Amino acid sequence: MLVTALRTAAHWALDFALPPRCAGCGTIVGEVHSFCPDCWKQIDFLGDSGCSTCGIPLQSTEMTTCAACLAQPPPIARTRAAVAYDDLSRGLAIRLKYGRKVAIARTMARYMAPLVEASGQPILVPVPLHRFRLWQRGFNQSALVAREMARRLSLSSDPFLIRRTKRTAPLKGMSAAQRRKTVAGAFRVPDAQSVEGRHVILIDDVLTTGSTAEACARGLKRAGAARIELISWARVVKPSQLMR
Ligand SMILES: [Zn+2]
Ligand SMILES: [Zn+2]
Repeated sequence: MLVTALRTAAHWALDFALPPRCAGCGTIVGEVHSFCPDCWKQIDFLGDSGCSTCGIPLQSTEMTTCAACLAQPPPIARTRAAVAYDDLSRGLAIRLKYGRKVAIARTMARYMAPLVEASGQPILVPVPLHRFRLWQRGFNQSALVAREMARRLSLSSDPFLIRRTKRTAPLKGMSAAQRRKTVAGAFRVPDAQSVEGRHVILIDDVLTTGSTAEACARGLKRAGAARIELISWARVVKPSQLMR
């Protein structure tokens, strides 16, 4: 325990003592938790654009909400992602997942925090891992990001609010319908009082079809949450959907 604490402290000290490096390529940069000009040019920042509900880029015929969200409002009232998913943003997500790099979590939080709307007192909740995977990896990467975002915004975060009760196979390669079926009913809120009537923002690293976050949202709705949003680091967007 003490050794771990000392090691963490040493890493922290190193984080601060070394010159800041670009989170994308490692080049020395002038500012902490930022990107060099070359990486900056490569990143597609999605920000607050797109459908007011799901965040997907709008077609020219659509006003502020896309046709799909108008036809059937999704359980997640607002979905946003900081950047589009590509080699660079994927690299950050992987280094966070397997390296427990607090600096990476801070970089992501820096670009995700502005996507939180100022109103109300939302609680930031990372999409949970199953306890087996948590035990394997030792930490939940999205919990690190949620904690850093909460620190920046003076909000609270709670990595234990939702429990993943079903261990699911990796969703990679599955269709949207298969994903939905796989994760259905996989999440539960053990203490409904903690979310009843509350505004919850789910925090995730990579957003693909959104089926996992949607299953979380259904669990939160069942427990009585008033409003559920999702903010993710990177989102898989078709190249044709990117407006440059
Ligand atoms: Zn760079
Ligand atoms: Zn939409």
